[in-house]
Amino acid sequence: MVKLLSSSVTVLVLAIASVQAQTTINPADYPAPNAIPPVNSPQVVAWLKEIDLTGAPNIKIHTGQPPACPNPPIKDECYWTCDGCAADDIVKCKRPNTWGLTFDDGPSPDTTNLLNYLKKTQVAATFFLIGTNVVQHPDIVKREATDGHHLASHTWSHHALTTLTNEQIVAEMKWTEKAVMDATGLRLKYMRPPYGDINNRVRFVLKKLGYIPVDWTGDAFDTNDWQMPTMAETAVLSTFTKSLDTYAASNRSSGFYCLEHDLNAMTVGVAQKLIPLGMARNISIASVPVCENDASPYQLGGTAPMPTLPGATVTVSATISATKSGSPSATTTAGSSGGNKKASGAESNKVLGSMIMAVAVVAGLVLV
Ligand SMILES: [Zn+2]
Repeated sequence: MVKLLSSSVTVLVLAIASVQAQTTINPADYPAPNAIPPVNSPQVVAWLKEIDLTGAPNIKIHTGQPPACPNPPIKDECYWTCDGCAADDIVKCKRPNTWGLTFDDGPSPDTTNLLNYLKKTQVAATFFLIGTNVVQHPDIVKREATDGHHLASHTWSHHALTTLTNEQIVAEMKWTEKAVMDATGLRLKYMRPPYGDINNRVRFVLKKLGYIPVDWTGDAFDTNDWQMPTMAETAVLSTFTKSLDTYAASNRSSGFYCLEHDLNAMTVGVAQKLIPLGMARNISIASVPVCENDASPYQLGGTAPMPTLPGATVTVSATISATKSGSPSATTTAGSSGGNKKASGAESNKVLGSMIMAVAVVAGLVLV
């Protein structure tokens, strides 16, 4: 058992990640931007043949972006944004005292500014990417991965998923998956539904594709950054400050996920004011796989080695042949209970050992 002496020092953990350089993305090889991809294209037809959608819940398709809540509610729909039913979606960061930092709707040209800030502050996040934007800015996506951030899906065209057919959901998810794979070699595993719009029919299709939905920890953790400039930045900051104060006054036994966006200069700007508010309250900041202690943050089948994210328990062995990129990836509070635990397998122990050494070297702390 290794324990770091300081309980209050936030330390930098080096990333162990590898992102394979891919061929340049040609937008002409993808569907039209910001539109629901057709389901009769040869590529989508091939994808549909790979999965069995038999048994999908027969819940009617909603209308509206986002849809109005059905009245009366539909039995067994489990419609998160309407009735708060999350089924087995992830809604809280499992690590105590941790802010699961996520950014939706990117990449945008302003994302680079945010990446510079995150690098400077040695903080890692999960980026829920829109496929259309990935095709337009593949180099930014590549940088996100090599900087030690975690990539996840936010669909191809950002339509509310309960308004789409099962086949359209497949097309939205698989085109985004392909775009990120083409840009980085990584096959996405986590996703966030646009508008948080998810019910049991959508969940069924996502599960068939191997995706884990990540919602957020309720309205209090919606930063409302997307409402700017209608909502003034000062209002965004004061509202979220109240949420952080309420959380900080609690026992902090589990962490939370926020709703935040790298959509434009305003949201990227306010992010750089929100993050210090969390740090000032000694709240650790981490990406989704670190929150979930998931050492395999991507699906198998990618063309790049599975990167490991520091802070998560290392349980894989055969896939850990990744090279060290040496980029900052995550912050973790020394001595917190959610950190590295017992690893299995010689290779895992070696990797775990190198991670611990990295912590020691960078933080200058004593191991006992
Ligand atoms: Zn979104």
